[in-house]
Amino acid sequence: MTLLDGKKTSNDIKDEIALEVQAMKERGEKVPHLAAVLVGEDGASLTYVGSKVRACERVGFESTLVKMPASTSEEELLAKVKELNENDAIDGYIVQLPLPKHIDEQKVLLAVDSEKDVDGFHPENFGKMALDMPAFIPATPYGIMELLDRYDVDTQGKNTVVIGRSHIVGRPMSILMSRKGNPGNSTVTLTHSRTQNIEEFTKEADIIISALGVPEFLKADMVKEGVTVIDVGITRVPDESHPKGYVIKGDVDFENVSAKASFITPVPGGVGPMTIAMLLKNTLLARKVRQ
Ligand code: NAP
Repeated sequence: MTLLDGKKTSNDIKDEIALEVQAMKERGEKVPHLAAVLVGEDGASLTYVGSKVRACERVGFESTLVKMPASTSEEELLAKVKELNENDAIDGYIVQLPLPKHIDEQKVLLAVDSEKDVDGFHPENFGKMALDMPAFIPATPYGIMELLDRYDVDTQGKNTVVIGRSHIVGRPMSILMSRKGNPGNSTVTLTHSRTQNIEEFTKEADIIISALGVPEFLKADMVKEGVTVIDVGITRVPDESHPKGYVIKGDVDFENVSAKASFITPVPGGVGPMTIAMLLKNTLLARKVRQ
């Protein structure tokens, strides 16, 4: 079994980006600038945004954190989005999800300039991705493709099962794995909560990408020998014995599934760190395009 080490791979990617930024500085060019908009005080969102800002510092990007109170109105947030679209110093930005319930998420994502949409959530980028055109690819699926590529996992003609059809992970993942190319060229089955007898699909899978958010959902008796397993799930499970009061669990029963797998991602240290590295990669691309 080979561990798909997202922590190490993401550090390699950050080192590669840092070298490029260094070269940009030496040529007297502007370095990439990422902004993150955070509305409210959601604990997990604060952690994610904090990691993104620290990652920017690590590679030499400029970063701006825009913190807005939970009481921010939709109009106020849309005004901030407009301001970021028009601010020439900002190459790319993200609006951290979820947003407070009184704000229409779709309306906000549609207002983001697609050329600064480094999360790849704008329909223009999603459509271009589906049509094999150059586009910002959502960071989590992009990170998974990069892991498969760097570990030379063979996806050609393989039977890939994606669990979960969210717009940010499962759906784009199913498109990317079925695209012509490497990684890609897989025969993809996209499963979700209405799928009947899901184990009939997972048992036949050469590659399983699990993104449903149910701790240890995928058990050893649901997979075949030699399977490749990508665990996207991150769920905080209450645990009083832990100083934080919770532990992070993936979607996969790692201990037992890893005994049958040929490749598998751990949680934590698998897909999570890759997501941030690919956000940086998208921001670097945004700078290059703008230049
Ligand atoms: P989401 O929007 O909640 O979607 C979950 C998907 O799983 C839905 O399509 C749902 O089906 C499906 N599902 C739920 N229960 C199921 C079941 N019992 N059997 C089969 N399918 C089931 O989730 P998400 O935003 O994609 O996130 C999924 C997980 O990945 C979460 O744990 C999240 O924290 C994690 N995540 C991690 C990263 C990272 O960087 N590592 C990034 C994003 C998300 P329906 O469509 O029918 O409801």
